[in-house]
Amino acid sequence: MAFFSGLFAAAGRDLFQRRCRVCGGLVPRCPKRRGASPSDWPLALLCAACAEALAPRRGGFCPGCGAIGPDPHAEPALCPSCESRPRPFATLAFHAPYQGLLRDMILSFKFGKQPEHAGVLRELLTGALTRAARGPATADVIVPIPLHPARLAWRGFNQSLELARGVSRTIGRPIDARALVRVRDTRPQSTLSGRERRENIQGAFLADPARVSGRVALLADDVMTTGATMDAASQALLDAGAARVDVVVLAR
Ligand SMILES: [Zn+2]
Ligand SMILES: [Zn+2]
Repeated sequence: MAFFSGLFAAAGRDLFQRRCRVCGGLVPRCPKRRGASPSDWPLALLCAACAEALAPRRGGFCPGCGAIGPDPHAEPALCPSCESRPRPFATLAFHAPYQGLLRDMILSFKFGKQPEHAGVLRELLTGALTRAARGPATADVIVPIPLHPARLAWRGFNQSLELARGVSRTIGRPIDARALVRVRDTRPQSTLSGRERRENIQGAFLADPARVSGRVALLADDVMTTGATMDAASQALLDAGAARVDVVVLAR
């Protein structure tokens, strides 16, 4: 008898509950959520705790560069740096600040410990883009931030390219991983100060005019910290004749 009641309990659990895609905890299954668009929040099949920890940032940031302000409910407003000197890219979309669960997921995905996070991270990146007010649907080509070939060989995959695949599917635009190349192997930006980052990354990218000239490029990456990498990559695309550069990142 215990065997059968156990069987029914398990069947009932599968009918009405699923596992959270991030932490594996049980979540009630809601049929209405299936097929929900990625701009919806929360994503399908996240538990309440993960959904809260991964919630998008909807206010209190600079719309020019995504710099995070102290009040998450404040109306987005240009930061002093963007007011005095606009960035080379036209628009920026991001999901949330680089902290907590989002940071943990990005790091463990990037260093190959949890490749299964790719699905949720792709949806977060796509959601960031579809929530953004301007521009994304007009991109002609999606350009992932490239790794230097030496680092690509060491890591085995480019996380930016992997994350961009969801965006490409959703907006129906191709990824061109050869439009932009890293011609110089730079020291990891995370070990450097703001000024050092700019000097370190200068001239690190080269874009192919045959692939970007006259086109709107959407640059995709996992994290934007000071923005020195994005500025350099955007400038390389503009120097090669890109009509405009937009940026989408998971975290800021
Ligand atoms: Zn969870
Ligand atoms: Zn700004």
